[in-house]
Amino acid sequence: MEKLTIDDLQLRGKRVFIRVDFNVPLQDGAVTDDTRIRETLPTLRLAIQKGGRLVLASHLGRPKGGPDPKYSLRPAAKKLEELLSKPVGFASDCVGAEAEAQSKALSDGGVLMLENVRFHPEEEKNDEAFSRQLAALCDGLFVCDAFGSAHRAHASVVGITRFVKQAAAGRLMEKELKYLGKAVTNPARPFVAILGGAKVSDKIEVVENLMKIADSMLIGGAMAYTFLKAEGEPVGKSLVEEDKVDLAGRLRNGARERRFPLLLPVDHVLGAEFKPDTATQTTSVSATPDGWMGLDIGPKTIASYQQKIAGAKTIVWNGPMGVFEMPAFAKGTLEIAKAVAAATTAGATSIVGGGDSVAAVHQSGVADKISHISTGGGASLEFLAGRKLPGVEALTNK
Ligand code: AMP
Repeated sequence: MEKLTIDDLQLRGKRVFIRVDFNVPLQDGAVTDDTRIRETLPTLRLAIQKGGRLVLASHLGRPKGGPDPKYSLRPAAKKLEELLSKPVGFASDCVGAEAEAQSKALSDGGVLMLENVRFHPEEEKNDEAFSRQLAALCDGLFVCDAFGSAHRAHASVVGITRFVKQAAAGRLMEKELKYLGKAVTNPARPFVAILGGAKVSDKIEVVENLMKIADSMLIGGAMAYTFLKAEGEPVGKSLVEEDKVDLAGRLRNGARERRFPLLLPVDHVLGAEFKPDTATQTTSVSATPDGWMGLDIGPKTIASYQQKIAGAKTIVWNGPMGVFEMPAFAKGTLEIAKAVAAATTAGATSIVGGGDSVAAVHQSGVADKISHISTGGGASLEFLAGRKLPGVEALTNK
């Protein structure tokens, strides 16, 4: 169902409540990485240009049910002021008389940032009265640009939409839905899914759903070892989720029956211990010695994955191929990042999601070559698992 976007809203002279994701890292009261703020600028600039009066809300961190200066959005508001080159007001509580008065004092194109919505436990409870109080800060207009929070039914994402006239997607949200939506409904083929990271349990539903949609799947990272164990391969001290071995075996058998190429590593880089300066060796997976742990995919696996990626027209990647934070085990992930970038240059659409794979594409210097870097790790996984996101469902249909 097509949803309203910010282009559909008449904003001139109206207060518009914009839910952003300014959940940024802070140190000593300053923002250390402003990526998330910069990513909302297209939406905010457009709303300003359309003459709207902007009331911005976000969560930051996990404050325990009350105000905590450590999680104040003040530094984010200051950063935004710099980035927009215009004053940004700040309301020290996200609801109440003071915030209402501040919102009413805005002029066309003015911007007010509200304090952390999670300073009220009602936010995460999607509380009705709290949602109403948030809605009272705007003139019936809501824009959601917080894709990273769209999988959560919280008051500033979902509850508020019941008390406004129009709830629309911002630019960032629209872009996420466009890329992820196309990948799951109408992908250019072949569609190669690459999944890695620490846990199979986080990604079981993604594996199941993408096995129905993609043309092949490349597995790496620690999650490969739960599959390899199910195959009867020796895994040494590698990270295995014992309670998921049967399920991994069933998924693998299902793939075999359907002749779906679910590729597992054939070789890997082992460490004696989980330490950057540990002893290493590279072996085939069937020759894993006792007492060693698999911490990266090996050269034969890299080559076979590169070949699959080179022929792809759609690529979705979530999760690193190894412990890329340690240089000795980073090669697999960085080579895959380069292969995804090269395939994109050759015409594929690539979508990279999840904090660590996003960090990896930045680390390998190819971020600007990726078609779409998804901002919401959890939300993009739920989307790829085929679930409906409450924050998207709640937007007004066209
Ligand atoms: P995730 O958050 O599930 O995407 O997992 C990312 C984490 O998985 C990163 O911190 C990696 O260091 C870690 N990881 C990837 N491969 C392995 C592996 N073979 N053994 C242990 N940890 C791994």
